[in-house]
Amino acid sequence: MRTSGEHRGGWAALTLCALGIVGAAPPGRAAETDAEAAQAATLARIRDAAMTQEWAFRHLRELTDRIGPRLSGSPQLAAAVTQVAAAMRSLGAEVSLQPAKVPHWVRGAEQGELTEYPGQPPGITQRLHLTALGGSGATPAAGLTAPVIAIHDFEELQARAAEVRGRIVAYDSRFDQRLADNGRAGDAYGQAGQYRFRGPARAAALGAVAVLVRSIGGADYRLPHTGATVWQEGQTPIPAAALAAEDSDLIMRLAAEGPVQMKLLLTPRLLPDADGNNVIADWRGRESPDEVVIVSGHLDSWDLATGATDDGVGVLAAAAVIEVLRQLDLHPRRTIRFVGWTNEENGGRGGQAYFASVAGSLAKQTAAIESDEGAGRSLGLNAAITAESEQTLRPVIDALRPIGATSLSRTEGEVGADIFPLQEAGVPGFAPLVDARHYFDYHHTAADTLDKVDPVNMNTQVATMAVLAYYLAELPTPLPRLAAEARHR
Ligand SMILES: [Zn+2]
Repeated sequence: MRTSGEHRGGWAALTLCALGIVGAAPPGRAAETDAEAAQAATLARIRDAAMTQEWAFRHLRELTDRIGPRLSGSPQLAAAVTQVAAAMRSLGAEVSLQPAKVPHWVRGAEQGELTEYPGQPPGITQRLHLTALGGSGATPAAGLTAPVIAIHDFEELQARAAEVRGRIVAYDSRFDQRLADNGRAGDAYGQAGQYRFRGPARAAALGAVAVLVRSIGGADYRLPHTGATVWQEGQTPIPAAALAAEDSDLIMRLAAEGPVQMKLLLTPRLLPDADGNNVIADWRGRESPDEVVIVSGHLDSWDLATGATDDGVGVLAAAAVIEVLRQLDLHPRRTIRFVGWTNEENGGRGGQAYFASVAGSLAKQTAAIESDEGAGRSLGLNAAITAESEQTLRPVIDALRPIGATSLSRTEGEVGADIFPLQEAGVPGFAPLVDARHYFDYHHTAADTLDKVDPVNMNTQVATMAVLAYYLAELPTPLPRLAAEARHR
């Protein structure tokens, strides 16, 4: 338990150094309090500037209205790189593009219909709402027709392994909206997500001809949710698609009564790797410019919509941190480095390329922040940090109190996919802790559009990242790194 008095001396000492006015301040308690107050005032100005700026939402609109979907390898993602790099240059940041080869998967035609099922009237088929998973293989150009095997979980897949060959496996693993409703959307996604991530590969290994997975999401608008699937080394991808939840229910009801057969047409293509880029924009530190604090989000998105919440909102909230510092003419001790990552959705190559570029100087990477949990209000911080660092971050939480972003959730796990390689090397990792109760209603669907973003909520993310990034960039010594054993737990 924390008591408010016990660590005040520690924060004050730190604050004095952080403000760089140790020499100027008279000794004693009153001076410490002044320094603390000065720091609190600076953090409050950052918070207020973040909450009142309109730069973030305006640039999110530019990205989504003028460019739209941004899948790796697409001309739209290249245009987004150009657009965001120009915006960062106009803020006065030092901008560079960091190349990374990215997978180039392109969606094709996608259709499915039930061609035989119990009680089927003569001449009737039923059209299904589905969309190919990223990385899916293709059916023959005329489609394929095969019996469906309805599977609820991996245990059932194993138990019925002998029945899988030659069939279309339909997984019906539900997204648990109760978890999402109670602040555990990530857990719900992780649980149901296993069937999208690994289900197609496991079914293919047993001889399935195609795979359908129930969409991972909580809403009821008959929307299929795409997303990447992962094949085993050397495995030939088979056709794999997400079904709208309602259509998965339909197949399960019919399959419980007797044989179901379907026709599936998917014609995606996997092209040779394409050229991609991370956008890097440095707000140069005044004392230790070679030491960096990263603020980031990913610039790529799925192709069904404009990627407003995944992750237009995160990448432009992170970019707006630089706009806030520019407005206030604040130049902290270390460099604050905005990164717009490429290829988070179907490869992670941007995060890998960045990590490779700094692998020889990891000590200079002092902290990394990534926003990629949707457009909800910030409730505080997800932080992969040591236990002692919680106390150090107290002034950040105090500054965020007026906007209600006061929760500090310490974790030893991944807080952002693109910064995870840095986290694994011990770099403290952060993400805004976001209200994600409705994130998975639209996640990876055709409905991930600008209207789902509330500019005020977006600004709470800007404020959270701006206050945190400035504070971390101003600390006299960086936060301690995480020990290897903790990271791999
Ligand atoms: Zn994302």
